[in-house]
Amino acid sequence: MSKHVIENNKEGPRKKTKIHFPSNEDDDDEFDDLEDTVQLEKSQVKISDSDVYLDTINRKVLNFDLPLICSVSLATTNIHICLVCNKYLQGASESSPAYAHAIDSNHHIFINTQTYKFIILPEQLVLSGKVLEDLNDIKLLLNPEFTIKDISSLDNVPKQGTTLTKTKYDAGFIPLINDYMNDQTDSRFDKYSKFVLKHNALYYAISHISFIRNALLSYTQSETTPLTNQLSILTKKIWSPFLFKNFTSSFAIENYLVSCHLPNKIIEDIRLFYTWMINTLIKENKKIFKNKFTGNLLLNEKEIKFINLAIKLPQQSVFKGSTSLSIEQYDLVKLIKEKKIKIVKSPKYLVIYIDRTNDMKIEGIDQELNMNILKFDPDLLQLDTELKYKLLANITYDNKVHVFNKSRNKWVEFDSVNLKEIEKELLFITNCQLQIWELQ
Ligand SMILES: [Zn+2]
Repeated sequence: MSKHVIENNKEGPRKKTKIHFPSNEDDDDEFDDLEDTVQLEKSQVKISDSDVYLDTINRKVLNFDLPLICSVSLATTNIHICLVCNKYLQGASESSPAYAHAIDSNHHIFINTQTYKFIILPEQLVLSGKVLEDLNDIKLLLNPEFTIKDISSLDNVPKQGTTLTKTKYDAGFIPLINDYMNDQTDSRFDKYSKFVLKHNALYYAISHISFIRNALLSYTQSETTPLTNQLSILTKKIWSPFLFKNFTSSFAIENYLVSCHLPNKIIEDIRLFYTWMINTLIKENKKIFKNKFTGNLLLNEKEIKFINLAIKLPQQSVFKGSTSLSIEQYDLVKLIKEKKIKIVKSPKYLVIYIDRTNDMKIEGIDQELNMNILKFDPDLLQLDTELKYKLLANITYDNKVHVFNKSRNKWVEFDSVNLKEIEKELLFITNCQLQIWELQ
């Protein structure tokens, strides 16, 4: 099978991007157009420093969180975004949807989502020089950049961003809002939109594990690591001080999941979804993620690998002669010790899944959730003298997520709509379902 290789290493934060396109019939249209545009870029015959169309840019409508899909051809490569109306359009050659849009709509300035270059159509000019300074905020909106120094200070100094309407926000602590997914007519999203809040809680938790976050913020995209690419883009946006609005969205990664054809039980169950995600991250980047999330434990004298510990919460009991259930408290450490397991190799990140299934089948009681309370100290989970963990993230049954804002030394709750501060002492009364603990 012949392959075309495009190398683009002249500009942009990506040192080297290679894209291989197998030349089969399905890809023909996409490929032809891509070749045209790359030809245009390679030759770079027409470079301009003209600022003539800068005034036509409408920053208020710009939203770069959507999946990179051409609104006309549905192609997924070589997408340009119109900076006047935010339309996602393929190509820049004469036969491309972007070119046609420039002529039909009289919109002339676009950003290439692959090279981050600004292109004027239909003239096919690539902008360069001083004019780019005025466009840098748009480039950073599409692809937030972080230096090693930026990354190393994230947990020490709050990094503030300012939106277009001059609202301040703390980078790393903005909501994920996927409202506009509901507007999608694509029925493939139906089963996902139901679980997107659950997924958002998990993306949020993962993007607040410093080790994963730092790796994702400095990650160089690669065609062999599609999930890591998606998580990297989302994490960069969550931690970006360059946003125009103080929220972002997981629409693009949810769109990617559709193409993965995951079984329903993985999409629906937070524990399986977490396991799939971590396994895929490890598979895609053995060097970075291996050995951080898996541990070994002894069960009945057998050593087994584990990626999370599941705890079944003891069932609620029924008050005599009534249909109401009692609510009792159970200690997390005690419940783990009752499992009669011994951790022989401790993971850096210990994930605990709390099974809250209500097994009570009593007439008059229609309750899915076991509402017993799990007691724990967020500052210390001590499994033996050596093994001490601190809580990093807590996801609840109803899709809330609690993460620790290290730079402000406070716990924050994201309730799928808003973010607010929460007292550490109140974390345990939430119906926690999945917790991520960090080895001290
Ligand atoms: Zn437009």
